[in-house]
Amino acid sequence: MENTENTENTNEPREIFSITPKTDCPHIKSEFVEIWAQKPVDVKKSCEICNESNENWRCIECAKVLCSRYVNAHMTEHYTKTNHSLAISFFDLSTWCYSCDSYVTSKILSPILKDVYMSKFGTLPPNSDKDSDNNGEGSSFTRS
Ligand SMILES: [Zn+2]
Ligand SMILES: [Zn+2]
Ligand SMILES: [Zn+2]
Repeated sequence: MENTENTENTNEPREIFSITPKTDCPHIKSEFVEIWAQKPVDVKKSCEICNESNENWRCIECAKVLCSRYVNAHMTEHYTKTNHSLAISFFDLSTWCYSCDSYVTSKILSPILKDVYMSKFGTLPPNSDKDSDNNGEGSSFTRS
């Protein structure tokens, strides 16, 4: 038996931290948040077409869960068919606009982000309540 060395480069980092998302995507609409709220998010859901369970995205416009371009590109195909531009990643919670061909960010989408974060980590994002600065939780509660 020979040891075939198979060097796959499919897991190389995608520089998610060096990307600056667009802040002026014209495709983001506040009604998406209402559509989103009608169907509970489940980050463990697999692609509706190929059943892939890694790296799925959810369409922000119709709540379909489909796989990324790094898998079978069913979300890309969904955009081609429906012109639904916006999807959010269950992998790193980034929002992609296919029409802008860019990562995007908007205050409008924050309830959606929060929702995915909750489903993924079971807790609210650390910076979600801005008016409480609790460093060292539970350390100094003074009861009278
Ligand atoms: Zn856009
Ligand atoms: Zn798929
Ligand atoms: Zn869609």
